[in-house]
Amino acid sequence: MAHFIDVILPIPLQKAFTYHITEAESQVLKPGIRVAVPFGKSKIYTALVLVVHNNPPTAYEAKTIHQILDESPIVTEQQLQHWQWIASYYLCSLGEVMRASLPNAFLLESETVIHANTNAEVDEMQLQDDEFLIYEALQHQSSLKIDDISNILDKKKVLPVIKSLVEKSVVHLQEELYEKYTPKLVRYVKLHPNHSSEEKLQELLELLSRAPKQRQVILTLFSMEASLKKPIKVSDLAKESGASNAIIKALVDKLVLEEYHIQIDRNTFEGDSNSDSKDLNEAQLEALKSIKSQFENKSVVLLHGVTASGKTEIYVKLIEEQLLQNKQTLYLLPEIALTTQLVQRLQDYFGEQVAVFHSRYSGNERVEVWNNMLAESNKAKVIIGARSSLLLPFKNLGLIIVDEEHEQSYKQFDPAPRYHARDASIVLANLFGAKTLLGSATPSLESYYNAKRNKYGFVELKTRFNNILMPEIELVDLADKYKRKRMKGHFSDRLIEEMAETLEQGFQIILFQNRRGFSPIIECTTCGHSPQCPNCDVSLTYHQYRDQLRCHYCGYNSIMPKSCEACGNVTLDTKGFGTEQIEEEVKVLFPDKAVGRMDLDTTRGKYGFEKIINAFEQREVDILVGTQMLTKGLDFRHVKLVGIMNADNLLNFPDFRAHERSYQLMAQVSGRAGRTDLRGKVIIQSYNPHHNILQQVSTNDYETMFKEQLDDRHNFKYPPVFRIIKITLKHKDYNRVNTASDWYAKSLKQVFKYNVLGPEFPPVSRIRNLYLKNILLKIPPKQSLLQTKEAIMKIHNSFQSVKEFRSVRVIIDVDNY
Ligand code: ADP
Ligand code: ZN
Repeated sequence: MAHFIDVILPIPLQKAFTYHITEAESQVLKPGIRVAVPFGKSKIYTALVLVVHNNPPTAYEAKTIHQILDESPIVTEQQLQHWQWIASYYLCSLGEVMRASLPNAFLLESETVIHANTNAEVDEMQLQDDEFLIYEALQHQSSLKIDDISNILDKKKVLPVIKSLVEKSVVHLQEELYEKYTPKLVRYVKLHPNHSSEEKLQELLELLSRAPKQRQVILTLFSMEASLKKPIKVSDLAKESGASNAIIKALVDKLVLEEYHIQIDRNTFEGDSNSDSKDLNEAQLEALKSIKSQFENKSVVLLHGVTASGKTEIYVKLIEEQLLQNKQTLYLLPEIALTTQLVQRLQDYFGEQVAVFHSRYSGNERVEVWNNMLAESNKAKVIIGARSSLLLPFKNLGLIIVDEEHEQSYKQFDPAPRYHARDASIVLANLFGAKTLLGSATPSLESYYNAKRNKYGFVELKTRFNNILMPEIELVDLADKYKRKRMKGHFSDRLIEEMAETLEQGFQIILFQNRRGFSPIIECTTCGHSPQCPNCDVSLTYHQYRDQLRCHYCGYNSIMPKSCEACGNVTLDTKGFGTEQIEEEVKVLFPDKAVGRMDLDTTRGKYGFEKIINAFEQREVDILVGTQMLTKGLDFRHVKLVGIMNADNLLNFPDFRAHERSYQLMAQVSGRAGRTDLRGKVIIQSYNPHHNILQQVSTNDYETMFKEQLDDRHNFKYPPVFRIIKITLKHKDYNRVNTASDWYAKSLKQVFKYNVLGPEFPPVSRIRNLYLKNILLKIPPKQSLLQTKEAIMKIHNSFQSVKEFRSVRVIIDVDNY
């Protein structure tokens, strides 16, 4: 009988691909094992076995596989099922889901290797000097990699040389696979076996009596071995004996010491654990009880608890219970980098059992978390991570906590799979018969709606821990303040007064402005010209710190011109303001106070966030200016005042969710004030202080906000009432994107009629030199999702078979947020 496997390739193919395997291979291959397979003309890919079967493909001749890469599956069955759900729900390929899931190191890549062409008659006289060097090297070595060639020739650009050698048939190229994961090895030392006998040892010490430093190293090693009774690290020995690494190395070279390596885990936790979790107060206990009883017949519960009500401590109790049953908990956070505080808190309680899956982790760190989970290690019982951690190989999942479940960053925009981590995690939990707890002070309309309709359980926590009152919120009318000249820069007199008082009392301040840079628009007051990005349809933002104009869409930057590029006058002025400008103004207003800034520009690098958060926690900074990064669940103890510099650009954002988002952002940033002992204060500056949303924020009236927004969503057919799928077409040619999107929309309208909107240019209609056009499909509550998606894919496929549309990029985004 013939044997076959269907595999997932790490490229966007609509179907799994079939390969032929031998009888022997069929004995060892299982779903979840990696194989190297040939694909196309010369590519070799790492593929993942999906099924083993006996049916030859009908459309093509199955090739044989290259190599089996694992002894046992590195992907679990639940993962494969979950991936299939993601691919079919979010309309993408399994290969795309696999790419998003597996650490890169697992997806071996082809690397070009150069071999001598042994059949060729080479005329050495015809070779250039560089070419000859390579040719000669290949007489001694069977193959060379690009890097080797670069070393031999001592230059970077070697491709032209290689190309010419290929043309002259001197060499040929081969794609080869290589493992990218390198285990972290730690250096240890012990006494060289040469000296292990008592006698030899005495000799040695005598010999070393003239080298006191080296002697000291040996003696220290003995005493460490005696007291620690475990292998001694080179670094520890150096520290303990005060000797340099060079001295230790000299001893190793002399065969006095022997060096050896042990592979260690990069993700080791060093610190004290075993703090006991806190005793809950009555309201928390009540909430915990209610969550547990609702879990008995609901798989999802929404916990709506005001900011600083102590939700985290409730999660901790639930995690403790999972650990008692030896089950895993996944704790999802919107942005892991922002949450060092929380990681610290959980490690205090659960120590080593906490694994953090960090978006800024290196590939190797990711591999270690993955391997620990596959091995059901004790180090992978509580997994904290951002959205992609739900793609890890869980074995025994009992609970998923989605903290700050309303956060937009749970949705992946680019590249595919464009999944929503909250929704995908509910599906994941169901695969394990596990429970999902959604937590937020400002739930998404989706989740609240589901709770209202009894699809989810629902628990409320209405008071802050310690019964501190919710912060007092004051709305400041900017139009009035400007008219009466009560503004200094972008600060109203009220905000300045409150800031002065707060600082006087020794408390800290957070200022929120949802724009980074100094100023989003530069305008010439003479001719009105304002510098635009050459690649995108937006104006350039001025960044004073670097004296640059930057595009926030493509990263283009140029030096700030001294005079207007159009008319040449030196009358350039700034319009609008970002965090940089606020920081500048604060420095002038409060010159003897320390100001910090937290936005994309100041938080790059692996520890970017930590540094700023720590400085603020340690009170090295009095006033922290930032973008929405400030809103995500941070718990600072000494913040008494929060200032929202301008609420209007949030409210006026062109998106059907703008009002919901504004409410959430403002309520969350307000929630950073007065969390521990004293009631906090919030000042919101706006031209439109009577706006419903601002009124609702200031009275902490989520319920009314929800009702009003839901009415709108009903009336205008938007989520959570209708579902939406957004289809974006991109092309560098303006006309092409127009014809293509007209074609696409027309086909959709034939099926879905008036539930198709567009095509329309978005507010920024050109990004990175590509024109964009959007089509929005609204799906009524009763319409079958499956059939809808099938119809879309049919249209999509015929679209792609039109020759002139082939170069148009189409992005399908299900449940676009
Ligand atoms: P939330 O997640 O709801 O915003 P947190 O869990 O961060 O609230 O709690 C707010 C503050 O109150 C934190 O500093 C936390 O340590 C403290 N806290 C919450 N519950 C308790 C408790 N039961 N005992 C002592 N402190 C608590
Ligand atoms: Zn740009």
